[in-house]
Order: sequence, then structure tokens, then C-alpha cells
Amino acid sequence: MVNEIRSNEIALGLANAKERITSAAISVKRDPSEIALIVVTKTFPKSDVEILYELGIRDFGENRDQEGSLKADEFHLDAKWHFQGQIQSNKIKSILSWADVIHSLADLDHAKRINDRVFLAADKSNVSKIPILIQVSLDSDLVRSEGRNGIDPKEIEKFAESIMQFEGLELKGLMAVAPISEIPESAFARLAGIFSDFQRIYPDAKWLSAGMSGDFESAIHHGATHVRLGSSILGNRSYL
Ligand SMILES: *Cc1c(COP(=O)(O)O)cnc(C)c1O
Repeated sequence: MVNEIRSNEIALGLANAKERITSAAISVKRDPSEIALIVVTKTFPKSDVEILYELGIRDFGENRDQEGSLKADEFHLDAKWHFQGQIQSNKIKSILSWADVIHSLADLDHAKRINDRVFLAADKSNVSKIPILIQVSLDSDLVRSEGRNGIDPKEIEKFAESIMQFEGLELKGLMAVAPISEIPESAFARLAGIFSDFQRIYPDAKWLSAGMSGDFESAIHHGATHVRLGSSILGNRSYL
């Protein structure tokens, strides 16, 4: 049973987000239909996902294997689940059982394990590749050395070349999260340059997944093709 108050609330948040996406695109003379909206449902209940589905949303983002797996289980077949969280080796098999796209690949060993799994799951004549994005770090060198938030921009070419050997992966593009220590406008401007260099080598990898609730307009100004929005549509997360 769908809660009507919640349903109206989400419909409003969604309409507002779509309007902002459209204005941001138009302000830089982009076609708004080029920009895909992924609604990030992490920490929100499956009933919200159902409401979003009824409102026409088909792309859902999740950060954690267990939560994503529970929500995606027996959900409408035409929905697409985007995994965008940190990958753990021991979760790869499970992630691949429900995720349709992986946005957060940043480790060669993970790439190899994902590839092995794709081939294990396939019958010999029919390998269905898993679409992946390389997560790029926009952090300063110092912050990057402390965390695992993506590949150093200087290393992307080499990393992409290494993962091209894995035939179970389909390289779709790049993903990034703006660092907290910098205004998004300047971080995404840098990302645009990184993406343009990358596209010279991989012209078929057309996705740029960037922009969250607090910064998606700026990401769109700088070429994002996929924005990942949670709280601006669903409200504040009560726990994390
Ligand atoms: C949580 C999350 C989002 C959505 O964040 P909001 O601020 O709620 O829009 C997008 N991308 C990633 C990688 C996230 O972890």
C-alpha cells in the first residue's frame, strides 16, 4: 500500500529536481534530455523506491551491497540499479547479482575479480558485460593518499588501458564526487578537462557521472551526463 502523503512529497521533490536539471542544462545550452537522473535511495525504504517507480523513475543508486540487494530483489525488471559505493572484494559476487552498472571502480584487483565473476556467471557463448565507470579522485594529493576515493587523474589513462584487457567489463566513462575542501565549480571544471582528455582515447565511453544534491547544477554546467540525487528528492537521511 502506498502512503499518499509520502507519495506527494516525493512527487514534489522529483518535479523540483527535474526542473532544476532542465534549467541548469539550458543555461549552458545543453539539451536537458542528455542528462540522466539516478535517484539515490540508500537509507530510504523500498516503499520509496516503489513510489519512485510509479512516478516513472527507472534508475536507482545504492552504496551498499546488502541494502541494494534487498531493494533490487524481485523489483520490476526494467529498473536499473547503479552501484556507487566503495567496492569490497568479498562483496563482488553479491553486487553483481543485483547491480546493472558499477560507478565506483577504482582498483585493478577489483576489476579482475569482477571480470572473473562475469565469466563464471556466463554460459560460454553469451557473456553479458557489466557496464563500469572509473571513479576519479578530485581530491588533493594529500587527501587522496589517505583515502580510497578514486583514481588519481594522472593515472586514469594507464588504469583504463589495464582494464581494457578484461572482456567482461564495458567501460562507460568516468564518475566523480566533488571534494569537501573545494568549491564544486572549480572541482567540476577540472573534471571536465580530465573527461575531455579521456574521451580523446575512449570516444565511446560517453558517461560522466557527477553531481549530487548539493552540487548537481555545477556538475551539469561542466558536462555531467548522469547526476546522482538522493536528499534533494527524498529528504534528509535520518541515519547513515
Ligand atoms: C549518497 C550519494 C549520492 C547522493 O547524495 P545526496 O547528497 O543525497 O544527493 C550520490 N553519489 C554518491 C556516491 C553517494 O554516496
